[in-house]
Amino acid sequence: MSQAPLAFVYDVLPSRVVFGIGSLDKLTEEIDRLGAHRALVLSTPEQRNQGRQIADRLGSRAVGLFDKAVMHVPIEIAEQAREQAKALGADCCVAVGGGSTTGLAKAIALVSTLPILAIPTTYAGSEMTPIWGLTEGGVKKTGRDPRVLPKTVLYDPTLTVSMPAMLSATSGMNSIAHCVEALYSKDANPVISMMAEEGIRALAQGLPVVVAEPANLEARSNALYGAWLAGMSLGAVGMALHHKLCHTLGGTFNLPHAETHTVVLPHATAYTAPAAQEAMSCIARALGARSPDRTLPAPELAAPALYDLAVSLGAPTSLAALGLKPADLDKAADIAVQNPYYNPRPITREGIRALLQDAFEGRRPL
Ligand code: NAD
Repeated sequence: MSQAPLAFVYDVLPSRVVFGIGSLDKLTEEIDRLGAHRALVLSTPEQRNQGRQIADRLGSRAVGLFDKAVMHVPIEIAEQAREQAKALGADCCVAVGGGSTTGLAKAIALVSTLPILAIPTTYAGSEMTPIWGLTEGGVKKTGRDPRVLPKTVLYDPTLTVSMPAMLSATSGMNSIAHCVEALYSKDANPVISMMAEEGIRALAQGLPVVVAEPANLEARSNALYGAWLAGMSLGAVGMALHHKLCHTLGGTFNLPHAETHTVVLPHATAYTAPAAQEAMSCIARALGARSPDRTLPAPELAAPALYDLAVSLGAPTSLAALGLKPADLDKAADIAVQNPYYNPRPITREGIRALLQDAFEGRRPL
C-alpha cells in the first residue's frame, strides 16, 4: 500500500519539565531559576493543606496562598485571585493541583506577565497547554495564548498518591482521550503521534495498578509520565469530535469533566474509526489489542479496548450514570452539530444522536 509523502508543521512549546519521585525537593531551586522571589501559591479548598505545605517549603519566597480554585474557572474567582496577586506584589504563581488550579493560574497569567510554575496532582494535562478557560454567566470561553503556558512543571508522582482511585481512573481516561484525538488531529505530525501512542501505552499500563494499589509509585510514575505526554499532545495539536462533545455535555448539562471524557471516549472513537484507520492501529497497538491470530494490532479493536479499559478500572461507562436524562440527548446532539468543526469522519446529526444513545446506555462499541 503506498503512502502520501510526509508533510507537516511542528510547533515546539517552550516549557521546562522536571519529572521524578522527589522532584518537589527542587521547588526552591526552580523558583530561583525563574528569577522569582514572591510566589502566590494556588490550590482548591480541598487541597488547602497541600497548598500550605508548598508555601512552607517556599518560606520567604512565598507571599500568600489563594485556596479558592474551582472547576471551570468562574470569572468572579479569577478576579479575586488577580486582585490578590496584585495586592501582594506576587511575581509568579505556583499552582498545586489538577486542571482547575492550573486553570486559575492561567487566568492570572492571561492579564499579567506572571510566570506559572505548575505542580500537577491529577492527569488532566492542562500544565502543558497554552489553552485557557473562563466561565462567565454560565458560559465557558476558551482560547489559546502563549502567556498562559506554565514556564516550569514539576511532576512528582508522590503527590498523586492521594488521588482517589476513581479520580485516578477517570482523570487517566481523560488523558488518554487527548492522545487518541492527537493521533487523528488535522494538525497531526509524526513527533506528537509518537508521544501520543506512548502516552496511551504508559497510562494503560499504569492505571490498572494505580487503581488496585494507589500507593504503588512505579505505577504512579508510569501514569503521570503518560499524562505528561498526553498534555503535550493536547497542547500541540487540535482536538476533534470527542473533545467537542465533552465540552458540550459538561457546559450545557453540568456533567463532571473527567467522568464525561471516560464515558464518551470509546463511542467517539468508534464513530471516527472508519475514517482514521492508521490512528486506530496506533491506539490498538498501545492498548495491546491484537487480531485473533495475535499478529497485528487490530484497528477495529481500538474503541472496544478503550471501553474494556474503563470497565477494568471500575470507571463509569454510561451517561445515564452521570445523571444525563433521556430528554437531554436531542438537545445535546443539536448543540454538538451547531458549529462545524474538524473530524476525520464528517459529523452528521443522525450519527451524533446515535453515538449519544450508545454512550447514554453504556453499550460496548462493536
Ligand atoms: P480538578 O482540578 O477539578 O480536581 C478535582 C478535585 O480533586 C479537586 O477537589 C482537587 O482539589 C482534587 N484533587 C486533585 N488532585 C488531588 C490529589 N492528588 N489528591 C487528592 N485530591 C486531589 O480536576 P481535573 O480533572 O484535574 O481538572 C478538570 C478541569 O481542568 C476542567 O475544568 C477542565 O476543563 C480543565 N482542563 C483544562 C485543560 C487545558 O488545557 N486548559 C486540560 C485539561 C483539563
